[in-house]
Amino acid sequence: MKKTANSELFRELPSVDEVLRRPEVSALALHHGASAVTDAARVVLASLRNEIASGLLNGQKMKIALDGLRPAIEAQLRRALACSLRSVINATGVILHTNLGRAPLAEAAIEHIRQTAGEYSNLEFEIEAGARGKRDVHVQRLLSKLLNDPAGLRRSTDHVATAASAVQSGDIPSHSKISTIVVNNNAAAVLLALNSLAEGGEVIVSRGELVEIGGSFRIPDVMAKSGATLREVGTTNRTRVGDYEAAISERTKLLLRVHRSNFEISGFTEQPAMADLVALARKRNLPLMEDLGSGALVDLESFGIRGETNVLDSLHAGVDVVTYSGDKLLGGPQAGLISGRADLVARMRSNSLFRALRVDKLSYAALEATLLAYVKRDYEAIPALRMMQRSRDEIGARAESVAGRVGSAKLQAEIVDGESVIGGGAAPSSVLPTRLLALTCSGLSADELAARLRASEPPIISRVEEGRVLLDLRTVFPEQDTVIADALHRIAN
Ligand SMILES: *Cc1c(COP(=O)(O)O)cnc(C)c1O
Repeated sequence: MKKTANSELFRELPSVDEVLRRPEVSALALHHGASAVTDAARVVLASLRNEIASGLLNGQKMKIALDGLRPAIEAQLRRALACSLRSVINATGVILHTNLGRAPLAEAAIEHIRQTAGEYSNLEFEIEAGARGKRDVHVQRLLSKLLNDPAGLRRSTDHVATAASAVQSGDIPSHSKISTIVVNNNAAAVLLALNSLAEGGEVIVSRGELVEIGGSFRIPDVMAKSGATLREVGTTNRTRVGDYEAAISERTKLLLRVHRSNFEISGFTEQPAMADLVALARKRNLPLMEDLGSGALVDLESFGIRGETNVLDSLHAGVDVVTYSGDKLLGGPQAGLISGRADLVARMRSNSLFRALRVDKLSYAALEATLLAYVKRDYEAIPALRMMQRSRDEIGARAESVAGRVGSAKLQAEIVDGESVIGGGAAPSSVLPTRLLALTCSGLSADELAARLRASEPPIISRVEEGRVLLDLRTVFPEQDTVIADALHRIAN
């Protein structure tokens, strides 16, 4: 009985060709191309065939499905032709969220990418000379200005004189010779630096700094790939400068310090002062490298973050080579930067690995525009830095206003104190005070409410804690506040 009913329905099902000949369907091909429409029609008909086979359709439902072929094909086209990589609203309060793409770019960086992407550029061309040039020059120019003029980033006045006197006092070891190269990310920067400076030899690292960063970056593994041998010294919680000294042999090529990015060791701990490590490196004529991870180019204290070394502090202290990411506290595109003594950086530049790890013109465009904001000290232009500077009260006022617009008996919104996180392996212990929008919705668990927010367009990513959904507007662009309010309104009504 059911079988005959089904074969009846199968006979009603049009062929792909018949569907494509319908005017309302063939019109879709003008927009989306014939082959995409054909594919979409196949998918829609195949799913109807499945539904018939599994007895889900009767004559009535079949008629509705056939009448709705065009919208079904359109919906399938939208799914098939949509980008998988799309923007989301980050309401987690984690500023440099690795899963959400880390630093959003400055407007100027986006504009510079736009210009550079669709046209030819002087990426590796010296316009005046009409000759081949180097792609490094575009950011080297700005970084040498920023890094050779360290006081300039801390003080807005008289920086030239301050920098000059610092050099005279011997504070800064020949900063005029600091140079920088850019590779694909900081993991690549560490790999290139270790391979260039220590292949075939030993690198001394403290056991307390053998870190793993999310996304499988592990110092021992990168070390192995670089061809250098790891020489661990000290213990997990205590390492003294004497431990490094005792491990130095004729095989030693490099002393390495690694930023503990995503964890802290507290209690009975000891880590040698940077000054002592620098003194040891100088005495034994070995280069000292620091993997800073989230190298900031500004003094972070003024952004409410204490106890974090920035790139300048590190170079200032006498570290020979510093590696850091472009998309962490720097607030630019994914990249790895290596800044340090020109002779050491030159060895990395001539390493054939450098060619394999180099970055494209779009990254240079974004990085150049971001660095220009630093040259102008326009930190507001850099979204990650701007978000760090928003006060608890400012964020609280925005949260109040969103809560006021949601208004429904079903959805309870409360404003509570909380903490935003820098993220991206920066300042593991420093948090910024914030005000959170705490939500509960009758009939929905917190996880279900979070899922509904993720299902809105654009998806809204929140935190769930203690049975509530928490939204931190610090990481939300102010113009997105209404998008959140509208999404909450839809869910609540
Ligand atoms: C984040 C981090 C890395 C990896 O940097 P990517 O740019 O993600 O490759 C390496 N070392 C440290 C200390 C870090 O914090």
